[in-house]
Amino acid sequence: MKKYNFNAGPSMLPREVIENTAKQILDFNGSGLSLMEISHRAKDFQPVVDESVALIKELLNIPEGYSVIFLGGGASLQFCQVPCNFLVKKAAYLNTGTWAKKAMKEAKHFGEVVEVASSADANYTFIPKDWACPTDVDYLHITTNNTIYGTEIRKDLDVPVRLIADMSSDIMSRPVDVSKYDCIYAGAQKNMSMAGVTVIIVKDDVLGKTGRDIPTMLDYRTHVEKGSMFNTPPVVPIYSLLENMRWLKKNGGVEAADKRAHERADALYTEIDRNKLFRGTVKEEDRSVMNLCFVMNDEYKELEKPFLDFATERGMVGIKGHRSVGGFRASCYNAQTMEGVNALIQAMKDFEAQH
Ligand SMILES: *Cc1c(COP(=O)(O)O)cnc(C)c1O
Repeated sequence: MKKYNFNAGPSMLPREVIENTAKQILDFNGSGLSLMEISHRAKDFQPVVDESVALIKELLNIPEGYSVIFLGGGASLQFCQVPCNFLVKKAAYLNTGTWAKKAMKEAKHFGEVVEVASSADANYTFIPKDWACPTDVDYLHITTNNTIYGTEIRKDLDVPVRLIADMSSDIMSRPVDVSKYDCIYAGAQKNMSMAGVTVIIVKDDVLGKTGRDIPTMLDYRTHVEKGSMFNTPPVVPIYSLLENMRWLKKNGGVEAADKRAHERADALYTEIDRNKLFRGTVKEEDRSVMNLCFVMNDEYKELEKPFLDFATERGMVGIKGHRSVGGFRASCYNAQTMEGVNALIQAMKDFEAQH
């Protein structure tokens, strides 16, 4: 049976990305060696890194003066690496969910953390809007897409201080004005590649300003200077990232990805709102187009498990909601298809007809 993958991360990748990566794992560029067996310093691998960086810069229209680096450790390591490289005294954080909260916790190791606003009391069902960014902070940190709760800041904020964003779950899904950010980071396994590599876009001239004695591996400058080759980078995830960026470019870049994301989300939210069994969990204006969270209306609560089974029998994978929200979550990153979304919508309609 055909499977429709709605996993939140690691998540669906285009079939051709997986196939092309698999080929290189068996025989890298006709060398007779696997991509997993070659040196990262092999002359054939440098072009993989170079092309990946070039494509990311091209797709996101990154201005001069920024570096793109590939590190291990996931977005979670960035929760500490960001403050280590940018926080001198005080930093501001917008608390919009589990990941934002974890980022705040790590920043406290390096200085004072100001929570500018939080929607924690409402189980993160909206993006706080009524706040002002303090001007006496080293930076403001935001999470552009809240993967667990299904809210999103799908625009580039204007703030009076350095802006740093965790874009793990919506990077490459829309055009971004990179010039508004001093640092953008993203674990690749949601929308760029398989797990194992984190992409960091950083403005060069803001590095090295904290006066802090930073351990070599945690210092962004180490990796900028060595072109992500200071130590062994995650070779296979970087290769699959390259294939994914080639695929994205071929398919119209981030503008087209944005359009497709809205088409998928509009169709699914329309059904969530129409269907008598379901309701969305977050404030409409803050709905994420990447992670769509919904639950069953109170009078049908006991049908959640039966619907999950019903949808699973029809090939849906990964639609169970995160435990902090319950219900369902359909993750629709770049590789998601309208066919998959339509299959889910049809399952919702057919299940409604039975009840
Ligand atoms: C998944 C996720 C993370 C954590 O990523 P890891 O690579 O597992 O550390 C952080 N932030 C956001 C927004 C995420 O979606």
